[in-house]
Amino acid sequence: MKLYGPTELMEDVLGKDLCIGCGACIDLCPYFRSHRGKTRNLFPCTLAQGRCWAYCPKVEVDLDELSRNLFDKPYQGDPLGYNLEVKISKAGEKISSSNFQAGGTVTALMSFALSKGYIDAVVLTDREGLKPVPRIVTKPEDIISCSSSKYSAAPTLSALNQALKNGHNHLGVVGTPCQVLALTQMRSNPLGEENFTDPTGLVVGLFCTWSIDFQRFETFLSKQMDIEKITKIDIPPPPAEIMEIYIQDNKIGIPLDEIRKLVPDTCSYCIDMSAEFSDVSVGVLEGRPDMNTLIIRTQRGKQIVEEAEKEGFLLIDDIPQENLEHLKWAAGNKKKKALLKVKQQKRLNTTEEGRRAYLRIYPETIEQILS
Ligand SMILES: Cc1cc2nc3c(=O)[nH]c(=O)nc-3n(C[C@H](O)[C@H](O)[C@H](O)COP(=O)(O)OP(=O)(O)OC[C@H]3O[C@@H](n4cnc5c(N)ncnc54)[C@H](O)[C@@H]3O)c2cc1C
Ligand code: SF4
Ligand code: SF4
Repeated sequence: MKLYGPTELMEDVLGKDLCIGCGACIDLCPYFRSHRGKTRNLFPCTLAQGRCWAYCPKVEVDLDELSRNLFDKPYQGDPLGYNLEVKISKAGEKISSSNFQAGGTVTALMSFALSKGYIDAVVLTDREGLKPVPRIVTKPEDIISCSSSKYSAAPTLSALNQALKNGHNHLGVVGTPCQVLALTQMRSNPLGEENFTDPTGLVVGLFCTWSIDFQRFETFLSKQMDIEKITKIDIPPPPAEIMEIYIQDNKIGIPLDEIRKLVPDTCSYCIDMSAEFSDVSVGVLEGRPDMNTLIIRTQRGKQIVEEAEKEGFLLIDDIPQENLEHLKWAAGNKKKKALLKVKQQKRLNTTEEGRRAYLRIYPETIEQILS
């Protein structure tokens, strides 16, 4: 793949409002910064090839290459991506109950991995008021304070860049599918750096259908409530069609149609619902808000999940067939709709001079997804 630099990143992503604010290009150099949910370029750097470009999940993403690097398998466009098994799970008795988004599987897995030394720090997403903020956590007992979902995209990966500078080299990372995609590109050493080693020990991906633009969300909610007092935000699975905002003991419901107006356009190009390039992916189990869906993808993910279960950090069960079928349908539907849009916008496998692709996928895989 031909590599480019910050000029092209500005042209193809930031300049077209396609940045999701994942944080992968932030804190690599002094020139990219995150300000209230938006990525800003502070200086017109002219480097011909840069990590900022190579890591960005919104341009020149070669899915087959990433799949072969990570799983040693071609990218086949399956709705849930490559996986070893799909289960349901929740935090076990070793984890004290907390403000988990659902079953607390993510918190439990990272707490186990950090306490056992499989990872030396965890990159998480906390919140300050309504704003999601990246965190580097080094003590298992601090992981719980980052529990629960912040539904705006966060510059989480800037904390990973910072953690590497701080000398951590075996990181746990929790991220949305676009963040995991950026991370997978980092892990493939696209610039061919000498003595490169994969800096991750466990990557947990979150399911994601869309996120909300932070600045628009803040303006929208501020007109209706004191946003400093929000304790939790939840989107119960369909057919609820509502966002629930908890303010102390009160719950305010907002129709999802209102919230969807605040979703950035870039999410409509995103073909990954289940963080297909993680070690394990976690979502909410439909009809059981106290449980998670758990997709195990790699051997290291499988080993950590099995040990966490044995040691009482995780409870695992079989997924009901009906849930599995619906999950595949939802993920396949997102993939198909987004791929059609990428194709219509002529951002798929482009070869013309000066026009860089968003995604690279083999034509037969495209056909299979769209069939
Ligand atoms: C933007 C967004 C959209 C989502 N959409 C869906 C969906 O469509 N369907 C579905 O089933 N699940 C979705 N989820 C995932 C779901 O909300 C839960 O995160 C997941 O089920 C794990 O639950 P848990 O109880 O194990 O999490 P917890 O144990 O409570 O841990 C939550 C973890 O999420 C991380 N986190 C929180 N907010 C963010 C963020 N903005 N970016 C990156 N990491 C974050 C925290 O660091 C924490 O480690 C979404 C999550 C997010 C952040
Ligand atoms: S790497 Fe992430 S934050 Fe940077 S331009 Fe791309 S999407 Fe935006
Ligand atoms: S829909 Fe895709 S691009 Fe948007 S926040 Fe979720 S994973 Fe990122």
